[in-house]
This record gives sequence, structure tokens and C-alpha cells, in this order.
Amino acid sequence: MDSLRYGSETHKRPVVVWNMTRRCNLKCIHCYSNSRDIPYKNELTTDEGKKLISDLAYFRSPVILFSGGEPLMRGDLPELVEFAVDRGMRAVISTNGTLLTREIVTLLKKTGISYVGVSLDGMEKTHDRFRGVEGAFDMTIKGIRTCLEEGIKVGVRLTMNRKNFSDIPAIFNLIEKENIPRACFYHLVYSGRGSKLIEEDLSHGESRQVIDCIMERTREIGVLRAIGATPKIIYNLFVAEGMIVSVFSIFLGLLLSWPLSIVASKFFGNLMLEVALRFSFSKIGFVITLTTTLIFGWIASRIPAQKAVSVSTREALAYE
Ligand code: SF4
Repeated sequence: MDSLRYGSETHKRPVVVWNMTRRCNLKCIHCYSNSRDIPYKNELTTDEGKKLISDLAYFRSPVILFSGGEPLMRGDLPELVEFAVDRGMRAVISTNGTLLTREIVTLLKKTGISYVGVSLDGMEKTHDRFRGVEGAFDMTIKGIRTCLEEGIKVGVRLTMNRKNFSDIPAIFNLIEKENIPRACFYHLVYSGRGSKLIEEDLSHGESRQVIDCIMERTREIGVLRAIGATPKIIYNLFVAEGMIVSVFSIFLGLLLSWPLSIVASKFFGNLMLEVALRFSFSKIGFVITLTTTLIFGWIASRIPAQKAVSVSTREALAYE
């Protein structure tokens, strides 16, 4: 059992998953609960949910995982999370992430929620195809960022199959870039709409390939994070390096070219205009030249720095 999601003292008693609603705003092709955006009968009310939580707390269940369907389709989720936290339980949710608006995340933060697990099926095209809703990927990533900004622990969860396993290296790049602290990889569950995807499940060989990739990338990210090399730090390093190189280049360029340009401008000025271009000798001329070159140098140093943000861990570790 992992401590990031469930805490460190949860090894003796069971974690309870409550699928609090079957309703969902997405239409995933692999949905194990065959969920749709319609009301379902016989789901527990808020009061009944509180009774359930009280019973679980009485039995000292350490963690309750609110799942679904999409738990955020229920307006009473924050209230129920707070109720569980007040009774000494750790509360975590499993969500598709599309409804994690700033307002709801701020509210959840106040309840004392411990962790938010967000489902991701691949990069944009793959994810949207699986989720059956265009734009779902963008909404989910926005939700993850909002959780991170509000200081809520967040992780991604991916159900692997033949149609998305080639996206896994890109998912690791995303995890690094967004500084997401946790990722879970699951096998397909053969129930609900997922039962129609049995032939899309990974073979043993493909599973082996994916697990090797997961282990390797996890080790690499671990090394980077152990030395504190977040994408932001890598970005800053590249900017600093770019700036130093630019400044030296500018001074070297000035040293070599300025006298030449003065001679040239004087020569051509005399030749063509019959006046020396006095501006080249003036202080203001020098300041303008220096300022312009510094601005161009600064802009130029940003280009490799921007590229550095998208480098993979492998490339970053090989960087000298
Ligand atoms: S898999 Fe999850 S997000 Fe997708 S439709 Fe089912 S409940 Fe909704």
C-alpha cells in the first residue's frame, strides 16, 4: 500500500472504495461501470452516505476512496469528504478530472482531502478518443494543474491496452513536465463497456515491454527528483547558460566589430552623404547598440531554454 495516497499507518485495516454514483459526464469506451450522464436509482443519499462513513470510522477504517462513475457529479462530495476527515479518516477521490474547477478544488482543499487520483488514457488524441468527449484531455490537465497549484496531492492513473500503450513514454514526459508526484498503471477491467475490449488487452510480450519502460522511466525521474532537477530548474539552467553565452558573444562581437563599423560608417558616410556618421562615435550610439544587442541576446537565450522544457529525462541526464 502506498503512503502518498493512503498515509503511512494504514497497513492493518482495509481501505474502502465507495462508488458513490454511477453517473458520469464522459462516455469512455472502456468504462467498467457502463456509466452515462443520467440519474441512477437507489444510490445512497447524503444522510445515508454519512451513516456509512460513521460506521467505517467506528470500525477504524483508515481511508475512504470516493469513486464512481464520476464522484464530482454529486454536489455533496465536499460535504461527505469533510465528514470523513472530521471522523479521523483520510479521504481520497478518483475522478476523470474534467470537473476540477478552481472553485471545487479550493473547496476540496478546505475539507482536508488527502489525495486526488485523475484518470488519463494517453496523450490528447488518444485520451479524447477513449473518453468519447473532445477536449476532455485539456480539461483534465487543467484540473491536475489546479490541484497542484492549490497544494493538493495529485496523481494520474492509466488503464493500459493496445490502443494507448505506445503513449506511455509521452505520459512520462508529461509527468516530468507537470511535476506530477504519482502515476498508477492498471490492466483493463473486463466489465461494463470494458468487456468489449478484451481483444485490445496487452499480450504478455507487450506487458513486459510496458513494464520495462515504466521501470526505466521511474528510475530516471527518481534520479532527477532526488537531485532536485525539476523541469523548472532545468529551464532556469538553460536560460542562465544562454544568457552567459549571449553576453560573452555580444561583448566579443562589439570588441571586434565596433571599430570596424565606425571605420565603415565613416567611410561610406563620407563617400555617400559627404558627412561622417557622427552618431557612431557618440555615447548614445554606443548605448543604443549595446541595448539592442542585449535585447536580441536575451530573446535568443530563451529559444534553447524553451526547447529544454520539453527534453525527456534521458536527454536531460545526458546533457553536459
Ligand atoms: S470510466 Fe470513469 S470517467 Fe469514464 S465514463 Fe466510466 S465512470 Fe466516467
